[in-house]
Amino acid sequence: MNAPLEVVILGGGTAGWMAAAALSSLLPPTRCRVRLVESDEIGIVGVGEATLPHIKDFNNSIGVDEAEMMRATNATFKLGIDFVDWGYKGSRYVHPFGAHGGANAGLGFHQLWRRAVDSGRDWDIQEFSFAVMAARANRFDFPAAGHRTINSTFSYAYHFDASLYAQFMRRLCEARGLERIEGKVRDVEQDPQTGDIRALLMESGERVAGDFFIDCSGFRSLLLGSKLDAEWEDWSQWLPCDRAIPVPTERVGDLTPYTRVTAMNAGWRWRIPLQHRTGNGYVFSTRFIDEDEAVEELLQSLDEPTLAEPRLLRFQAGRRKTSWKRNCVALGLSSGFLEPLESTSIYLIQIAIMHLLPLFPTCVHDPRLEAEFNRRMDIEYERIRDFLILHYHLNSRDAAEIWRYCRSMEVPQSLHRKMELFRHSGIIESYKDGLFTPPSWLSVLVGQGLTPEHYHPLAEAQPLERMLADLDELRLEIQERVDEMPKHASFIARYANAQAASEAILHEAEERL
Ligand SMILES: Cc1cc2nc3c(=O)[nH]c(=O)nc-3n(C[C@H](O)[C@H](O)[C@H](O)COP(=O)(O)OP(=O)(O)OC[C@H]3O[C@@H](n4cnc5c(N)ncnc54)[C@H](O)[C@@H]3O)c2cc1C
Repeated sequence: MNAPLEVVILGGGTAGWMAAAALSSLLPPTRCRVRLVESDEIGIVGVGEATLPHIKDFNNSIGVDEAEMMRATNATFKLGIDFVDWGYKGSRYVHPFGAHGGANAGLGFHQLWRRAVDSGRDWDIQEFSFAVMAARANRFDFPAAGHRTINSTFSYAYHFDASLYAQFMRRLCEARGLERIEGKVRDVEQDPQTGDIRALLMESGERVAGDFFIDCSGFRSLLLGSKLDAEWEDWSQWLPCDRAIPVPTERVGDLTPYTRVTAMNAGWRWRIPLQHRTGNGYVFSTRFIDEDEAVEELLQSLDEPTLAEPRLLRFQAGRRKTSWKRNCVALGLSSGFLEPLESTSIYLIQIAIMHLLPLFPTCVHDPRLEAEFNRRMDIEYERIRDFLILHYHLNSRDAAEIWRYCRSMEVPQSLHRKMELFRHSGIIESYKDGLFTPPSWLSVLVGQGLTPEHYHPLAEAQPLERMLADLDELRLEIQERVDEMPKHASFIARYANAQAASEAILHEAEERL
């Protein structure tokens, strides 16, 4: 048998430690030996607090205990994203992790809803989503098993402290014997003939040699970008935001089980509730506002007192055209960046790892594996790109220039086709690969203000009165089941924060009196 492949991960942010945890847990040590290089002095970007439900599969696959992870990262639950003022000022909708309609509604529920609207009902489609109604009520419980009951129609994710999550992954890896090398990389040694990376040259003089390198060096993209010169694809004509100002605030008031994103004069701001603080930040475009004005606009809009000075992060929307080049794969920020509007970056790290594992090289360089990995990542990036553009493009806000620009910009053909199909008769394309299933597209299309011109004839399978009565019953059932759920704060206190448990339970008991 060949000697195990020597794998070197550069970077110890979320990307680096997730990759280290997955490779060291899921690949046999006879296949590869993994080492991780990072610099405490450089540190990590440390933002990235909102996740998608897929992260549960990742954590499960590497043996993470959910409650332990949540306690260690001050995590809360997330049922979706609350979009405020996006379609137009004063509008509001939740993009939930779940379907609209009852347990057996299938993908065509919105056709029934559209027929109900045609018949004169002014029902908001959101009232038919269990996850939306639970989120609005600040309630949380685990989804019921199976697919038969209304409270089985949703999923959930987490909000967590990203730095603490990276540390959690690090502890897990080190407990399993993974070697971490502290220090700054000064240069990179390449094979003069092939261009393959041979070793990282440390400031300390150490030489860290490897067969295969995973670039998790963040925005610097030290290996894939700087050394291997992988071409950058700029998507800022569709996603013009190029700065973010994160600022944490005190945690005051209800612990909401959702991320809130509010449209602003030159972008949008996030609000992410953690157990110990609230994460906030303004993502904006310097084409439409200058940095000082943006800081001012953000500080004026915050709900709670700040805990630290705002800091400024620069970026450009886009990605490296290839995430795998020669004997190097880039994960996380070093492979590309799409703004955190739909919390997709950690998902992109996870899915890249999941695509990498089955394609993991057995020898140093195999162009077939490289091509297949890149093909899969193209699909992932492009699906997310289109979904993000949809939020900007489909708006009827008039007060600020960025929204007028986005409304009139030409969007990718792939997105144009999706919007037109939906506009005509509510058809939503479903695809096998890539993020965002039809329920997600439905939430955002309708939430941003697009209602299908016609409903599908299949929606007429039942007599109208019967269908309306069923829908009404469903709304009531959702409301009743939501009312039975515990408050999110007391659920967290019981499940993931033993210390606070008694306080929250007492508080809820008082509230119920
Ligand atoms: C404003 C903002 C908000 C975000 N919000 C979300 C969100 O809500 N949800 C989400 O999923 N994602 C979000 N993201 C993305 C998320 O933060 C990143 O995907 C995630 O943190 C991964 O970062 P990383 O590990 O790629 O890079 P980093 O965290 O920057 O880590 C880079 C690592 O490389 C090391 N390194 C760099 N250079 C050297 C060197 N010369 N020598 C040695 N080591 C080196 C550093 O020490 C560090 O360990 C957000 C990003 C931004 C900018």
